[in-house]
Amino acid sequence: MAVETASVDFTFHPNSNPMPEADRLKAFENLGFGTLFSDHMAVIRWSMDRGWHGAEITARAPFPVDPASAVLHYAQEIFEGMKAYRSAEGKAVLFRPEENARRFNESARRMSMPELPEDLFLQAVEKLVQADAKWIPTGEGSLYLRPFMFASEAFLGVRPAREYIFCVIASPVGPYFKGGAKPVTIWATAKYTRAAPGGTGAAKCGGNYAASLVAQAEAQAQGCDQVVFLDAAEHKWVEELGGMNVFFVMDDGSLVTPPLGGTILPGITRNSLITLARDEGLTVHERPYSFEDWKADAESGKVKEAFACGTAAVVAGIGTVKFPGGEFKINGGETGEVTLKLREKLVSIQRGQSNDQHNWVQAIPGL
Ligand SMILES: *Cc1c(COP(=O)(O)O)cnc(C)c1O
Repeated sequence: MAVETASVDFTFHPNSNPMPEADRLKAFENLGFGTLFSDHMAVIRWSMDRGWHGAEITARAPFPVDPASAVLHYAQEIFEGMKAYRSAEGKAVLFRPEENARRFNESARRMSMPELPEDLFLQAVEKLVQADAKWIPTGEGSLYLRPFMFASEAFLGVRPAREYIFCVIASPVGPYFKGGAKPVTIWATAKYTRAAPGGTGAAKCGGNYAASLVAQAEAQAQGCDQVVFLDAAEHKWVEELGGMNVFFVMDDGSLVTPPLGGTILPGITRNSLITLARDEGLTVHERPYSFEDWKADAESGKVKEAFACGTAAVVAGIGTVKFPGGEFKINGGETGEVTLKLREKLVSIQRGQSNDQHNWVQAIPGL
């Protein structure tokens, strides 16, 4: 679907009814995750004959959606998740945004959707943050950015749609898990899987999440925060959580994380932590790790710590794992030292508070 897009200029239509400052500051006092939204959104449209066009920053508002829109029937939808932080020097910064732009197109290819030139993706994100810079919370919070694309063509036949809408919205957020650094409890489902070989596990598409919700509900019914999925083929290997990758810290100081290979979402947090751990002199093995080994190693003390990671929650220690017929604890149910150290290292780079030796942090011009 390569339609050449010569050049796309964004038009700016300021929101004529922005949230009053006092209301915004009040809302900032008690930030949750994904409940409050900024004044604007970025939109770019795509059609078969025009390619990418109509780029704008405009007031955040509902889209008129035709009841026959392809996304409502066949779920052609992909998204990204990234954050803008207020750095120690007061700049607005993004963390490895070009990785999100690149991954977005990998998802687009898997879902037969048009690729968005990376430069346009990055411009949309930057221009939205520029328009809504006052929505970046200071302190612990950040402005969560949600780029996404969906098939908007009104057509019920089964083929890739010929019209799409790309959009970025922004949501000021506090900590993802209430209770801060408290470790999470996870449920290993025996019934459901997230991604099969040849499927869409490596694409960041809404459909993967739709399919994971019933397992997440099962986890909650078991008193757990999150679900961990095992592989679909053998139901043996640990893959990832519904929206986070997973790491294990072994008693020899090495780290283990399941290898990418089509069924696991290639997390940017995962990739960054592998690099940071290696910077620290730790060995990181990307290798299959079975649930049986995890259980045995937790009991014998061979696995010292476990944690989940992703943009929204950054790094969350895993304290307890429950499964049908039992449970085990890791590190006595507490978040471990290596986990805390890696979390601290990553967070301080993301917030522009420490040496960014890999040039991961990008300041948004003019802010
Ligand atoms: C987004 C996502 C992750 C984490 O990716 P990051 O780039 O680190 O935010 C992990 N697993 C799934 C299924 C995801 O959708």
